[in-house]
Amino acid sequence: MKNFPMFLRMTGRRVVICGGGEEAARKCRLILKTDAEIVIVADGLDPELEGVVASGRARQAHEAGPDTFANAVLVFIATGDEEQDRQLASHARAAGAVVNVIDRPELCDAFTPSIVDRDPVVVAIGTEGAAPVLGRAIKTEVETMLAPRLGSFVALAGRLRDAVAERFAPSARRGFWEWAFSGEAFRAHLAGRERDAARLLKDAIALGKAPDRQGHIALVGAGPGARDLLTLRAVQRLQSADVIFYDRLVDPEVLELARRDADRVFVGKDVGACAWPQDRIDRLIVAEAAKGRRVVRLKSGDPSVFGRAGEEIAAALAAGIEVEIVPGITAASAAAASLTRPLTERGETDTFVITTGTCRPGDATPTRAHIAQPGTSMAFYMAVEKAAEVQRDLLASGAPSDCPVDIVSCASTDRERHAATTLSRLAETITAEGLPSPAILFVRYPKSLRAEVSEKGTVAA
Ligand code: SAH
Repeated sequence: MKNFPMFLRMTGRRVVICGGGEEAARKCRLILKTDAEIVIVADGLDPELEGVVASGRARQAHEAGPDTFANAVLVFIATGDEEQDRQLASHARAAGAVVNVIDRPELCDAFTPSIVDRDPVVVAIGTEGAAPVLGRAIKTEVETMLAPRLGSFVALAGRLRDAVAERFAPSARRGFWEWAFSGEAFRAHLAGRERDAARLLKDAIALGKAPDRQGHIALVGAGPGARDLLTLRAVQRLQSADVIFYDRLVDPEVLELARRDADRVFVGKDVGACAWPQDRIDRLIVAEAAKGRRVVRLKSGDPSVFGRAGEEIAAALAAGIEVEIVPGITAASAAAASLTRPLTERGETDTFVITTGTCRPGDATPTRAHIAQPGTSMAFYMAVEKAAEVQRDLLASGAPSDCPVDIVSCASTDRERHAATTLSRLAETITAEGLPSPAILFVRYPKSLRAEVSEKGTVAA
């Protein structure tokens, strides 16, 4: 290690920024996060720095005088003039400040890391200048791991430290803090229920005992396949899960984002094998949560779209277990994105319908007459095998035979395939192209098509 990371105390200290351009403004943005006094040494200031000075948060000095660097903890230098940079660096160093000269590593005592800021939690990443691009990529990864509200929870915990020390014997404190940083108070705070979180913490402190760990079930949307189509919240739930129950359609790439020592249970249907019955899944997730474990039920796309989420929520609530939905990108959104086509088009398709080709065994096929209307864009899920039936019903309900149709298989994965056709050739195209499940069938019945057809007189106006 050529550079050793340390955190500098800023309160009551001064930071001097020499230079008034964009580079200086960038450093100033960083220092504004601290409570240091800021002095900007420059004749002319870029509009952003002018704003900072006007707000009273920084003071401008036109040149560096004998006192400028006194009490300075840190001096950034970016005048753009090599000789001037060098002189300022030597004055600042003589005054005892740590010096950073932008783009001149040979004149630097210290380097600014990539920072992930969840004040008071701060993560600094450095690569000793060897790979700044990698540093930024690591920063992005860490950003996804740390919940946005983490900092304010840690600050709250900090304010309660003395009270905890008073109420808990030293041997019990660790247990309390372990609960505090993973239990319901933590989850409530991260979910935006800050008052509930504070109350839970204070109740536990008043009792002098951390509550038994409560289990929790998160129905998490895994998105359509590509791992970068997961939400940050989904990644966080995967990172803190004790056990993950996942479906066949969940891409292995997505599971890689889970905490390494989380148990993984496959509950989906493999080709030719039997699916786990839903009531068995319901029982199992509830049983795991009842042990106090954090359960993730990972489902493809959005858990609330054809995901049988309702049954799992009911089972959890019946057992008194906290349950939440973490929404995901549903297959129709991903398929439309793959086509670079919107799901609705102003003036053409004002209604967007999500529907299915496959219902519960024994149920009647949904009536399609009311969706086969001009101005409608329809996404059919679980419909590859039922394409002929969909085609027949829509045509019989009056949809024109040349309604444009797109079939998107395995959207967002490296197996993605697409075919464009018309309603009258839908089933034929799927067979001819051999398009596999999972796929979305998009049928569009734009208003302009109806106008065209009625002009030709094939449809009653
Ligand atoms: N909850 C999921 C849907 C589950 S039902 C979601 O919101 O996407 C399963 C159906 O979803 C499949 O039959 C198929 O129609 C669709 N599907 C799932 N993943 C898909 C993908 N990557 N590409 C196209 N369709 C997909």
